[in-house]
Amino acid sequence: MPKILIVGGGYAGFYTAWKLEKWLARGEADVTVVDPLPYMTYQPFLPEVAAGSIEPRHAVVALRRHLKRTNVVTARVTGIDHASKTATITPPVGEPWEFEYDQIVVTAGSVSRTFPIPGVADNAIGLKTIEEATAIRDRILGNFEKASNLPAGPERDRLLTFVVVGGGFAGIEIFGEMRSLATSLLKYYPSLSFEDTHFHLIEAMGRIMPEVSLPTSQWVIKNLAQRGAEVHLNTQLASAVDGRIELSTGESFESDLIVWTAGVMATPMLRGTDLPLEERGRLRVQADLRVVNDDGVVPDAWGAGDVAAVPDLTGKGVGGYCVPNAQHAVRQGKRLAKNIVAVLRGEQTKDYYHENLGAVAGLGLGIGAFQSGNLAVKGLLAWFMHRGYHGLAIPTWERKTRVAVNWVLNFLLSRDIVELSAREHPRVAFETFASRPKS
Ligand SMILES: Cc1cc2nc3c(=O)[nH]c(=O)nc-3n(C[C@H](O)[C@H](O)[C@H](O)COP(=O)(O)OP(=O)(O)OC[C@H]3O[C@@H](n4cnc5c(N)ncnc54)[C@H](O)[C@@H]3O)c2cc1C
Repeated sequence: MPKILIVGGGYAGFYTAWKLEKWLARGEADVTVVDPLPYMTYQPFLPEVAAGSIEPRHAVVALRRHLKRTNVVTARVTGIDHASKTATITPPVGEPWEFEYDQIVVTAGSVSRTFPIPGVADNAIGLKTIEEATAIRDRILGNFEKASNLPAGPERDRLLTFVVVGGGFAGIEIFGEMRSLATSLLKYYPSLSFEDTHFHLIEAMGRIMPEVSLPTSQWVIKNLAQRGAEVHLNTQLASAVDGRIELSTGESFESDLIVWTAGVMATPMLRGTDLPLEERGRLRVQADLRVVNDDGVVPDAWGAGDVAAVPDLTGKGVGGYCVPNAQHAVRQGKRLAKNIVAVLRGEQTKDYYHENLGAVAGLGLGIGAFQSGNLAVKGLLAWFMHRGYHGLAIPTWERKTRVAVNWVLNFLLSRDIVELSAREHPRVAFETFASRPKS
């Protein structure tokens, strides 16, 4: 039986495995997915997780539960030698081992791309994982608790000043959601007022959200400003040492939460392999998702999602390639599964082609923005569209149900405002009072 190795069980990898289960006959191939995480993360929900509108575990899809005919390995692929068709798999505990495959599918996604700005690596947090989203939620809630005990002054300002760097889709969504959460919290903290909370989004370009039209992006900036959240355009973060924000405009203030959403780059693990990469470090693939080098197709190697430079045959992609988003990753995963099955059966592969469906963003409870071509929808209707689309798009009915039920409960009971950052040190309470042997 041919062995198919899928590196990364996120969007593209999960869908490839899921569809292979559907389209491969029993005994036709043996599929293994390797990911250090036992779940696929539905990243478009991360801003709502950070805002307490979705419970963290509901926004991830357990690989073992939903991939019933796939071998799931919770470990990291740390090397690929395609010449010998061997991958090195490194588990969290135990020795690494070599895995021999017949076909490899690289869907290892992307990581936050940062610049060497002083203080960013030490003080900022990204928004690519469920753990980051949960930590942002806890930080906002925890800071409200701490600030409510303090008199007005620099320390209280620092705790209640929140910064997002990067005005792309993810940045604007998390910014809007954080503002929404903070505003909803104020009624529980009589000692704090709306004016005590400060929100800054820093964007180097002259506009935000390139996926929507300029008028729609300007509407979003105005809406955020009305809600007390300031967008700094044409501004760069110069320093974030010890949480002291210094902007290229000369403005400076302190913040206890800096969320970095200024772009992504292909997972660097690929740089140590013999697979062909383009200048930005992405895997070189042709439109049917087979890996290519200067001599043509590299047999038995495939790539999709954020990690791969997939030609956009609609002609609308940035630099001729598909932009890194879930819309593409899901469909590429499905196409990739079909093409592998075709190759195994000696049939022709088909090129990946997808016309952009538009973009929909949630900007906090009851506020959204949608754009498709010249059609723009803003406000409450767009927010329902955002929830409707993503509520249906998260894979499996089990997950859709959990998210939808949680939304209904939050509508009836409002979102949960408990912070659980103490879970990071769960033994403290026990250890403090535990009896120890007398010396
Ligand atoms: C906050 C946020 C909001 C977003 N909102 C939208 C949206 O509204 N619409 C939209 O279309 N897109 C959205 N996106 C983008 C979208 O989520 C990504 O483009 C998509 O997740 C890419 O899928 P992927 O499979 O390539 O990577 P991922 O989903 O990131 O999966 C990669 C997987 O590879 C694993 N991995 C990494 N390294 C290794 C290794 N060495 N070995 C094994 N496994 C490895 C990772 O653990 C991960 O599970 C959003 C992204 C973010 C961060």
